[in-house]
Amino acid sequence: MDKILYAELKKIYSEDILFEKEDLYPYAYDTSPNRNVLILPKFVVFPTNSQQVSQTILICKKYNVPVVARAAGTCHCGGCRVKKPAVILHFSKMNKILSINKEDLIAKVQPNVVIKKINDEVEKLGLFFPPDPSNLTVSTIGGAVALSSGGPRTFKYGTTKDYIINLEVVLADGKIIKTGTDIAKDVTGYNLTSLFVGSEGTLGIITEITIKLIPKPQSRKVTLAYFDDLIEATAAVNNIINSGFIPATLDLLDKNTLETIEKFNPCGLLCTKEAALLIELDGFEENLNYECKKLFEILKKSNAAKIVQAQNEEENEQIWRSRRSAFAAVTKLKPNVITEDVVVPRSKIVPLVKGIQKICSEYNITVCIMGHAGDGNIHPNFALDLSNEKERKDFEILKDKLFALALKLGGSLSGEHGIGDEKKKYLKDALDIGALEYMEKIKALFDPKNIINPDKIF
Ligand SMILES: Cc1cc2nc3c(=O)[nH]c(=O)nc-3n(C[C@H](O)[C@H](O)[C@H](O)COP(=O)(O)OP(=O)(O)OC[C@H]3O[C@@H](n4cnc5c(N)ncnc54)[C@H](O)[C@@H]3O)c2cc1C
Repeated sequence: MDKILYAELKKIYSEDILFEKEDLYPYAYDTSPNRNVLILPKFVVFPTNSQQVSQTILICKKYNVPVVARAAGTCHCGGCRVKKPAVILHFSKMNKILSINKEDLIAKVQPNVVIKKINDEVEKLGLFFPPDPSNLTVSTIGGAVALSSGGPRTFKYGTTKDYIINLEVVLADGKIIKTGTDIAKDVTGYNLTSLFVGSEGTLGIITEITIKLIPKPQSRKVTLAYFDDLIEATAAVNNIINSGFIPATLDLLDKNTLETIEKFNPCGLLCTKEAALLIELDGFEENLNYECKKLFEILKKSNAAKIVQAQNEEENEQIWRSRRSAFAAVTKLKPNVITEDVVVPRSKIVPLVKGIQKICSEYNITVCIMGHAGDGNIHPNFALDLSNEKERKDFEILKDKLFALALKLGGSLSGEHGIGDEKKKYLKDALDIGALEYMEKIKALFDPKNIINPDKIF
């Protein structure tokens, strides 16, 4: 059967098809640990247009072979790993910005455009695309749409879902549809666009995206505030918000994270403090000078032990570079890093963080905790050696306890990374049973033969 499948795909893709075992390995992973036996895709194909995607889906449907879309592969939840030998649609040849319309504040892009590239291009016109998965120099708009990725700017600007107004999607029956119109405000019919955003590539394959843009803030100022106590740091978050501020970023870094960044990427972080807040304010320069003064006063009143305010764009970037290097720094502690993404009401950040620290010390597992404190979205980065049988088993128990804790605190499993393969066993505990039933029905309606990224989410 593979020979027939190959022959059919070859007709569409000519040389743009991979089938040798050694060529397939890079497409079998994402950034989640592959604890099971590695499953390789059957073929990787590189479409250049939506018609090719449609033809591929129809061929896969005929032979009952799964199809999985893949972009940069930075997903943390096993979303683009294959569960059965499948055909991978890799979008590296669909990586163009098709148009930018300054007057209508929209742009049309292909799925594999890297997010930073979108921002670099729209900034030339004084525009801004706020979604920023912290790895924006690598991750793509297609992946961000499929996961409704968030990131540090979510508190003020929202997540990817707030900036997607129309999608071209290829469905499991090969049909190519537009989910909406290219108008930012439109309630004509059901909001199919929002159904596909965050669907983790399980309902259809996204081949074109219309994004909403906003005017670029004139300036930004970044502040790092250190605290001797985690409770004071989170109280400061509330004090900042209650004083009328809407910072672009309100990120929290714990002591372990500060130490680990400083160990592997020395950049002058203060490692003796229990926690730090990274606060970015953006807007008009004149307003920012006033707001920064006010912010300083609030942080002082909130018992900040030390406050560092960047004086220029270079210093802003320096602070951001250290924050963005956190994940890479943790990878140097042990062979594996698992990043979780629990989210709780902001008032529950302290019990969540203290709870994670307690569980980790019970199992002697190193954890570096950071997160988007403004949204209650916390990323514990667990440093592990999964080849160590005990550590692997302990981590499975720890994970059960982590999700149980987040749910007990009124939270949820994932604020921005998605469910994929890694969190599906917890889904029934996190969702209303009736809602879950309808989600499964939606999947069955769009993909009755279960060939589009099967065995994910549910
Ligand atoms: C260091 C680091 C930091 C990160 N920080 C953040 C963060 O702050 N916030 C955040 O939200 N995430 C973060 N992530 C997670 C991840 O990077 C993002 O979710 C990212 O947006 C995924 O993009 P990608 O291009 O790598 O997609 P991939 O990993 O390739 O794919 C992700 C999912 O999208 C599906 N998909 C891809 N393309 C399509 C398509 N065309 N049609 C349909 N489905 C498709 C795939 O099947 C898969 O399920 C981080 C990851 C790393 C490694």
